[in-house]
Amino acid sequence: MSGMSDDFELETLALHTGIHRSQFNEHSEALFLTSSFVFDSAAQAAARFSDAEPGNIYSRFTNPTVTAFQERLAALEGAEACVATSSGMSAILACTMGLLRAGDHIVASRSLFGATVSLFNNILKRFNIETTFVSATDVSAWEAAVRPATRLLFMETPSNPLTEISDIAALAAVARKAGAWLAVDNCFCSPALQRPLEWGADLVIHSATKYLEGQGRVLGGAVLGKRDLVMDGGIFGFLRTAGPTLSPFNAWVILKGMETLNLRMERHSENALEIARWLEAQPGVAKVHYPGLPSHPQYELASRQQKTGGGIVSFELKNGREAAWRVVDSVRMISITANLGDAKSTLTHPATTTHGRISQENRDAAGITEGLLRIAVGLEAVKDIKADLARGLTR
Ligand SMILES: *Cc1c(COP(=O)(O)O)cnc(C)c1O
Repeated sequence: MSGMSDDFELETLALHTGIHRSQFNEHSEALFLTSSFVFDSAAQAAARFSDAEPGNIYSRFTNPTVTAFQERLAALEGAEACVATSSGMSAILACTMGLLRAGDHIVASRSLFGATVSLFNNILKRFNIETTFVSATDVSAWEAAVRPATRLLFMETPSNPLTEISDIAALAAVARKAGAWLAVDNCFCSPALQRPLEWGADLVIHSATKYLEGQGRVLGGAVLGKRDLVMDGGIFGFLRTAGPTLSPFNAWVILKGMETLNLRMERHSENALEIARWLEAQPGVAKVHYPGLPSHPQYELASRQQKTGGGIVSFELKNGREAAWRVVDSVRMISITANLGDAKSTLTHPATTTHGRISQENRDAAGITEGLLRIAVGLEAVKDIKADLARGLTR
């Protein structure tokens, strides 16, 4: 089943790619909990270490369960190569440390996951890699920010929490002209809804912690792209040397989650669209941000670039923090937690949690108001989600 052709649809690939049965002919993917692998002889050990003979050596380099995850995700994204990482953040770290050197420059979306901003600003900067942050939606701002030293353009779409849409094809053209790579964090859509490589991106980043795993159990991540970039270009080399690789147990949990990815993304999107429409009609709600709503400023681009709107909806209450906190404190079923992509609905007040460490000024610039809430709409009955939100909205 490993050498499955491209003729299969995503739903089929998600169930069958990456399966290499052991001598026991197990039906479900085997979990290889082992740190190292045994050689038949001194000569074989030497051949493995010198790359003369392919095969597993040590699980910091490769592990069969992790390889299965890599093959399956590569098939879903339509990528030549995939390397798994211990988390989404270590995927971004591996991408930058593997490809960049001191003096290089990054142009990045202003609307990035908070830890990604910290990684670029506080850590990469110490190694003399500078980042210019620009609007997620203004392509000309990206062009203007490019310098001779620019090597990487980095963005996520839809963005967190305001669901801004970046035009992948347009930014891929900017990257090509600049002689830089375009990396897209595809966490919010997953390959079930959006495949950035088809729009010209060079690299796809995943936090597998979110929708790929889908049930909030383990952390994981991945970097995908052309083989010469991912495997030979330094990303895999960084990982096997520095060590933030994916554990086989986590790979196995995520593999099982990926079997239902498409079904879940369809239902997350259906539920989210219904919640977004319902929120738009609530008197206490000033604004709803959801790419599947015709009121979204980039509705057309979103409709072209992604299959459906996805599971994340943000909305602004008219009466600021007090009204927002009342909704949060009134829920009985929805979880108050910062994770997303879980089968269970989760609710966050970004201004005081995920974006709480950012200065008020930068928060305002990013549009993270005190009245903003983000709901990652889960797989519960949509009627029950509405009822839980309504308690705090109407009181
Ligand atoms: C969660 C998240 C990350 C980081 O992933 P971890 O697995 O938590 O390290 C990166 N990008 C986006 C968009 C995320 O939502």
